[in-house]
Amino acid sequence: MSGGKKTLADWTVGAEAIVYQSCGACGSLQYFRRSFCCACGASDPIEKRASGAGTVYATSLVVRAATPETRALSEFIEARRNIAALQTYHNAGGMILRAPGREGGVMRPSDERVHQALAQRGEKMLPFYRSMVVWKDLYTVWGGEFDWTYGALGIVSFSNELWNSNMNAGRDQLGTGFGFASPVVINGKVIVTHDLNVAVYGLLQ
Ligand SMILES: [Zn+2]
Repeated sequence: MSGGKKTLADWTVGAEAIVYQSCGACGSLQYFRRSFCCACGASDPIEKRASGAGTVYATSLVVRAATPETRALSEFIEARRNIAALQTYHNAGGMILRAPGREGGVMRPSDERVHQALAQRGEKMLPFYRSMVVWKDLYTVWGGEFDWTYGALGIVSFSNELWNSNMNAGRDQLGTGFGFASPVVINGKVIVTHDLNVAVYGLLQ
């Protein structure tokens, strides 16, 4: 057997097997393939297939699209590979948000120019909105929608608000005393209780 060469197929090439090495001189076992025994230095340890029996010490479960709502959205997008642009809605804040969400993320320069041009146009249409890159101007988001829709699928992606209750504060802002009361939604209207009154949010007339 020649030094460190693969002789048995393992999971790295699609076989359902874990392969390890056993030293013919001292009997030590090692997992990472070497041309020598890491314990005694003898050359050409023997490759063996693990039986498959063992003890599980730790597992982690990666759930993609965990809720029915997210699943419906991802199935909709995956079934339509010609989607060029995506617009989602975020909570209020006067932001026109765009990718990347992950820290240090960058766009291809040509994509950056397209996103910038659209965001600048948006700022003109909505004077109280600001163009922002999620991780740079707001906060880091790992595994956010943009890093899938833009990063993986190449879709021009934005997220912004329909309205912000501070934009017309006299009419829309929450009153005082709103702390431990949960807003409830009844018949499509959001109902919030305050100290002295009840605010009902719905479609503008
Ligand atoms: Zn050895």
